[in-house]
Amino acid sequence: MRRRAVVIVGGGPAGAAAALFLAEMAPEVAADMVVLERSRHPRDKVCAGGLVPQVLAHLEALGIELRIEHVTAHRACVRVPRHTVSRSDSNLCTVIRRRDFDKLLLDAVKRRGIEVREEEGAIALEHSSSGILVTTAREQYRAEAVVGADGSGSLVRRQLGLELERSRRPIGRALLCDLPLEAIHWSGYDEKRYDFDFRAVTRGLLGYAWVFPCLIEGEPHANVGVYTRRPLGARREAEILRQKCSELGFSGSSLPRRAWPIRWYHPKQPIAGPRVLLVGDAAGVDPLMGEGISYCFEYGRWAAEEIARAFAAGDYSFASSQARFHRSWVGKKLVRLGVAADFFYGRGAPFWFFLAAHWRGAQDVGLKWYNGVDGWDRKSGFSALWAAIWGEARGRCDSVTEVIREVR
Ligand SMILES: Cc1cc2nc3c(=O)[nH]c(=O)nc-3n(C[C@H](O)[C@H](O)[C@H](O)COP(=O)(O)OP(=O)(O)OC[C@H]3O[C@@H](n4cnc5c(N)ncnc54)[C@H](O)[C@@H]3O)c2cc1C
Repeated sequence: MRRRAVVIVGGGPAGAAAALFLAEMAPEVAADMVVLERSRHPRDKVCAGGLVPQVLAHLEALGIELRIEHVTAHRACVRVPRHTVSRSDSNLCTVIRRRDFDKLLLDAVKRRGIEVREEEGAIALEHSSSGILVTTAREQYRAEAVVGADGSGSLVRRQLGLELERSRRPIGRALLCDLPLEAIHWSGYDEKRYDFDFRAVTRGLLGYAWVFPCLIEGEPHANVGVYTRRPLGARREAEILRQKCSELGFSGSSLPRRAWPIRWYHPKQPIAGPRVLLVGDAAGVDPLMGEGISYCFEYGRWAAEEIARAFAAGDYSFASSQARFHRSWVGKKLVRLGVAADFFYGRGAPFWFFLAAHWRGAQDVGLKWYNGVDGWDRKSGFSALWAAIWGEARGRCDSVTEVIREVR
C-alpha cells in the first residue's frame, strides 16, 4: 500500500490541468501526488480539437508552448434556420489533434516533477477510515484526496457516490469523421474558416453540425461532426452527419465515424464529496456546444484551490467546494450556457435564432463571452446586455452616417 496526498485518476486535459495548477498553488502537496492514466500518451481521443482562445491564455499562463500541428480559424460561418451569419477575428478557434495536445500537457506535468503512471488505470475506489483506497492492477494507494478526471463515464463518480440516478443524468453525444480535403469541395480550409450549422434543430436535433479545418500528419482535412444535447439514436445522428458530409461533396460509400458521450454541466450533478472532487467531463461541460477543453482548465484551477485549502485546514470534507464552484464566474457561465441551450434547442428556437442572426451587438458580446475574450465571461449579465444594446445602436448610427455621407 502506497500513501499519497492526492491521487488524480485520468491524465487527459482535466487531470493534467489540475496537476499543473496544484503544482503552482501548493507545491508541497503536489510533490506527494500521483496521476494515474490507464492509456499511454500519445493516445487517440474522439474529439474535434477546437480550442477557444481562453485555452491559449491558460497555456501561456502555465508556460506551455503550443508546439504541435494546428490550424487557426479566423473566420466563422454560422447557419441557422433561414439565415447565415459570418464573423471574423484574429483568432476564433485553434484546431489541434488530441493525441498531440494531451501528450503536450502530460509531458508538462512530468517536467514539473509530478509522478505520472501510465498504463495504470484505477479499477476500484472506496472510502476507508483514513482516506480513499484506490486500487489499480499494479498497486493500492491510500489518498487523502482523489480527483476524478476520468472522463464522461467516470469510475470515480460512480464508485464514490457522486452519480445521479439514470433518468436525471445530463448526457449528450457527439460523433465525427475526418475527411481529406481532396475528397470534398469545401472552401473553409483555405479561408481558415469553421462552420456551425444549426438547421437540423428543425428536425429534432438538440445541437448542431460543425466543420473544422484541421491538419492530420501534415495533410489538410475537414473535421465534420454533430453534437446533440440529448442522444437521438445512433441511426438519426449518423444520418445528420452523412447529410452534412454530402453537402460538402463527399460521395464515399462508407463514413469512418466515431461517437462518444458528452456529459454536460447540471447544477444538481454532485462534483464534490468527502475527499473527492470531479473535474472535466467527469463533472460536466458546456451544455450548449459541448465544448469541454477550456472547462478542463477552469475545473483544474478550482480543484487545485480546493485541495490547497483542504490541506491547509486539515479538512478534506470539501463541504463548501460545490457551492463555491456554483457561485464562481465559471459555474455561472455553465448555468447560463444551460439556459441558452434550453432556448435555442427548445420550442422557442425559431425566435431565438432569428434574434441571434439579426442582433449584431449581441453577436459581438456573445462571441467574446463564449470565447472568454477581454474578461467578458466574468462580467455581469446586465453589463453584457447593455453592451449588446449599445453596440447595436452604435452600429446602426454608423450605418446611417455612412448612407448620409454617400448621398451627399
Ligand atoms: C466528438 C467530440 C467532439 C468534441 N469536440 C470538442 C472541441 O472541439 N472542443 C472542445 O473544447 N471540446 C470538445 N469535446 C469535448 C472534449 O473532448 C472533452 O470535454 C474533453 O476531452 C474532456 O477532457 P477530460 O480530461 O475531462 O476527459 P478525457 O479527455 O476523456 O480524459 C480522461 C482520461 O482519463 C483516462 N481514464 C479513464 N478512466 C480511467 C481510469 N479508471 N483510471 C485511469 N485513467 C482513466 C482516459 O484514458 C483519458 O486519458 C468533444 C467531445 C466529443 C465526444
